[in-house]
Amino acid sequence: MSDKIAADAAVVIVGAGLGGVRLAENLRAGGHAGPVVMIGAEPHPPYDRPPLSKTVLTDASGRVDLKPGEFYADSAIELRTGEHVDALDTASKTITVSRADGSSYQQAYGALVLATGLLPRAFPGTQDVAGVFTLRTFDDAEKLRRAVGAGPNGSAVVIGAGFIGCETAASLHTLGLSVTLVEPAPTPLAQAVGTEIGALVTRQHTERGVTVRAGIGVDEIVTGEGGRRVTGVRLADGELLPAGLVVVGIGSTPVVGFLDGSGVELASREVGGGVACNEVGRTSADGVYALGDVANWRDHGGTQRRAEHWNHTVEQAAIVAAALLGTDHAVVPAVPYFWSDQYDLKIQVLGWPKPDDDVQVVSDDGHKWLAYFSRDGMLTAVAGAGKVGAVMKMRPKLLTPTPIVDVLPG
Ligand SMILES: Cc1cc2nc3c(=O)[nH]c(=O)nc-3n(C[C@H](O)[C@H](O)[C@H](O)COP(=O)(O)OP(=O)(O)OC[C@H]3O[C@@H](n4cnc5c(N)ncnc54)[C@H](O)[C@@H]3O)c2cc1C
Repeated sequence: MSDKIAADAAVVIVGAGLGGVRLAENLRAGGHAGPVVMIGAEPHPPYDRPPLSKTVLTDASGRVDLKPGEFYADSAIELRTGEHVDALDTASKTITVSRADGSSYQQAYGALVLATGLLPRAFPGTQDVAGVFTLRTFDDAEKLRRAVGAGPNGSAVVIGAGFIGCETAASLHTLGLSVTLVEPAPTPLAQAVGTEIGALVTRQHTERGVTVRAGIGVDEIVTGEGGRRVTGVRLADGELLPAGLVVVGIGSTPVVGFLDGSGVELASREVGGGVACNEVGRTSADGVYALGDVANWRDHGGTQRRAEHWNHTVEQAAIVAAALLGTDHAVVPAVPYFWSDQYDLKIQVLGWPKPDDDVQVVSDDGHKWLAYFSRDGMLTAVAGAGKVGAVMKMRPKLLTPTPIVDVLPG
């Protein structure tokens, strides 16, 4: 089945984030002459999310726009911000869009690309409690930064030590708060990279003065002022951690609600949920594609996977654009990559680490470290902190099957 669209086909993109912008840009760079419409629910022009848990908090450095304002008009990309796509009718190839003023309209498409990202999970019952935050959007980051600036620089608790939780804990510590990072798994990042690397991540937090409480869950977020303001966090063992500020980083869910009733197939929870796609992003509906954090692509081994990483989104946008243009394209990201900045350290992960892989820490000076992951004797991934060159030079070894003994030093 060809994915190639007609030269004058209207491509409509739902979601004006990283994936949407890169797709639009690639379509124009590849010569697509038809309309390109990008609809985004947020009021802002498209911006980059990684700085939100880093410089936007620590340096109040403001929004990092993905493109200069004139880019969209210059590229004939029709950007509609502050508009929400509510429904999709695959039979008539139209979407229903609502505006902030309450009005709505129908938009027809030749090809529709879903790039709607994720919504952070809230801690149940705390949506309206002052001092409790999640972090996904620029507005979330601004609210959190203002709360730090406004209050006495007291105690903060970060619930969940995934990448965003760890980065936020580092940023709040940098801003002078006394921070406790709480994680039910045995270490931070255990689900992503296992407990051995998690222990190195714990060290980088504790040696700077962040308290890491791993292996214990949170029973409740404790409030005062008649339930209006957070005062602390009660752990599963009954201990109360007083806190004027709580950041909840307990994961996110793909934004797919607007697809209810559309018939577009979703991936099962077991494989990560999101919109089920083939290896070029095509969904079960004719002319409908998905990419980025919301998309669950099939890889060339036939496995469905969903990733929540910047590079992955950029690579998928290039693949979908090439498929729509009928040009040659790369396959699903050959070697997955992501990074996380915590304090002065860049943590990088290249490859397919699994929490139960064998891990060999090949260098560790007490601050920077490098580790190789293997399964059944074969190299699966490389991770490092402060080891940019050493991590990236392993990419060729991950492109072909490599016995771990061939890369271990000495
Ligand atoms: C705080 C933070 C820090 C991060 N740091 C890193 C990092 O260090 N390294 C890394 O590799 N990755 C990082 N990431 C992940 C990276 O930013 C994402 O992988 C990337 O933004 C995914 O792009 P996307 O286009 O799929 O989704 P998004 O960038 O989330 O864009 C989706 C857009 O769609 C809009 N939308 C949703 N539903 C609708 C609808 N129905 N109608 C209209 N619009 C809609 C949303 O409002 C949103 O603006 C970070 C993410 C966050 C939140």
